[in-house]
Amino acid sequence: MSGERELLRHTAELAADFLDTLDERPLWPPATVDELRAALGGPLPEEPSEPLAVVEELARRADPGVVGIPSGRYFGFVIGGALPAALAADWLTSVWDQNAGLVVGGPAAAVVEEVAGTWLKDLLGIPTTASFAFVTGCQMAHVTCLAAARHATLERAGWDIVRDGLAGSPPIRVLAGTKRHVTIDRALRLLGIGSGSIVPIASDEQGRMRTAELADALDQIDGPAIVCAQAGEVNTGAFDPLGEIAELSRAAGTWLHVDGAFGLWASASPELRHLLDGADQADSWATDAHKWLNVPYDCGLAFVAHPDAHRAAMRLTAEYLVTDPDAARDQMDWTPEFSRRARGFAVYAALRSLGRRGLTDLVESSCARARRFAHEIASLPGCEVLNDVVLNQVLFRFRDDEATSAALAEVQASGEAWMSGTTWDGRAAIRLSVSNWRTTERDIARTVAAFERALAANAYSSAG
Ligand SMILES: *Cc1c(COP(=O)(O)O)cnc(C)c1O
Repeated sequence: MSGERELLRHTAELAADFLDTLDERPLWPPATVDELRAALGGPLPEEPSEPLAVVEELARRADPGVVGIPSGRYFGFVIGGALPAALAADWLTSVWDQNAGLVVGGPAAAVVEEVAGTWLKDLLGIPTTASFAFVTGCQMAHVTCLAAARHATLERAGWDIVRDGLAGSPPIRVLAGTKRHVTIDRALRLLGIGSGSIVPIASDEQGRMRTAELADALDQIDGPAIVCAQAGEVNTGAFDPLGEIAELSRAAGTWLHVDGAFGLWASASPELRHLLDGADQADSWATDAHKWLNVPYDCGLAFVAHPDAHRAAMRLTAEYLVTDPDAARDQMDWTPEFSRRARGFAVYAALRSLGRRGLTDLVESSCARARRFAHEIASLPGCEVLNDVVLNQVLFRFRDDEATSAALAEVQASGEAWMSGTTWDGRAAIRLSVSNWRTTERDIARTVAAFERALAANAYSSAG
């Protein structure tokens, strides 16, 4: 056996060993950052080392600082897991090491993105004529979509952004809900659209944009404008009323962008699809594959209803770039990246392994588990569930801020489950996201039991 084959075999064993620990390992790792620095740091070695020794040592020394994110009891942020087929395809992606910027850097990578892009439009309820791009995450999907939006809205106002940039251009207004995701603001900032150009639209108690306020704000605006709506608020999972927003945007002649980082996947479920009514009227959509589709980090997806604007915003040429107009598309004409990982392989493998029915099951079972958690946690003393559990997110708190923070800290420290805290309505709250194929009913039961123990321990310590 060659040394390289042995290395890969052994690494596969290390990987499988890690997955075997998921049921029992503490989800929050034991090592402090200083301990990790001590274990992994030191001066740059002068001499080479054997690859196998390097990988073994890395696995051993990093392990105490690895979060149990792939576990079915990791509910932090909105993270997702990695489907086995997607994980394995991601390994092959590294082995093949294609540069998926140009067709000549990997024709199979280009074709797989083409195929997966078409499947995704079908699954996500996006018009078949829309263009798409595989990017690093929803953050860069926003950048891609909003670059297209900036291009098109300024073009309509008689301004050529490609030639003239933003200096002296007509100002662009962006109307977005107060509960928009922070990545919208950063995408705009990167595109030269400052926070002063954002017109915040009030939200209701679930975090949904109030459409009457949007209508008023649109009345005040003439000139280039973009509306950013949200499918899936990061704490509550709530959807903006997309149908009404689409109608208002259309009447006002603005571009409508939808942040559907996880919420867009509701489209895969006949039960939940109604939450997205009107989303197909949008001009652009941003979502993630590394969240609910459960491909390994990182992969985001951008879709644009106006391929000309999308391509005009991203396209580039140079003498040395070999392109063949009759071949598949060169992805770099659609993405902000130049050289890039062949992200399509993992997405393709995830979609092949799930099929339409498997994706429906993944989405619906995540939501069912979120509802079950909400139902059970609500029966614990002092617990209040704060959101309508319309999707996969549960937002809850206990008697007061102190009790809420103490229960969360206790559960996090127990290693049984992990989720993050937030502030909602000015009060401490805990947010749980079910978005991993591994999460079982038993994981939900174990997590509720961890809260039960935490409440008992904290009652005991505050009494004592
Ligand atoms: C996670 C998230 C984002 C950002 O996505 P990344 O993939 O982390 O860049 C944007 N919007 C919403 C609603 C999200 O949940």
